[in-house]
Amino acid sequence: METLQHKFVDIIPEYLENGILYISIPRRTALHKCVCGCGNEVITPLSPTDWELTFNGTSVSLHPSIGNWSFKCKSHYFITENRIKHSEKWGEREIDNNRKRDKNRKDQFYKKVEENKVKTITEPIAAIKPVSKWKKFLSFWSVNITKKGGIE
Ligand SMILES: [Zn+2]
Repeated sequence: METLQHKFVDIIPEYLENGILYISIPRRTALHKCVCGCGNEVITPLSPTDWELTFNGTSVSLHPSIGNWSFKCKSHYFITENRIKHSEKWGEREIDNNRKRDKNRKDQFYKKVEENKVKTITEPIAAIKPVSKWKKFLSFWSVNITKKGGIE
């Protein structure tokens, strides 16, 4: 398996299919089955201190890499533009250091939030209302078309 297909979902399915990266924006989470084929489900929360998802219109990337240290396989890979790039497995010490770094990053982030230096997203996703934005766009065009028709 060298690629993953991304799939945007509102509700996270109960059974994940191999080779699909499920992305739920409302839940700010991405999920997929470990690419080694072990069957374990990998959950990657999307947040400033967890994973960052990039969608370029046709493919997605996750940053940083995915290290399944809690699984037996201990697989480690990058997902870049839907492609899987396997990386070296880490030893106990590297895993431990990474956990510490991760914790530090989180502590620092939440400290900034407390000090009001960083704003977290508290607005519910439904408040963005993309539909009304489209309606506005469409009505703008229909108005212009009507006007043009009137001139002629
Ligand atoms: Zn695995």
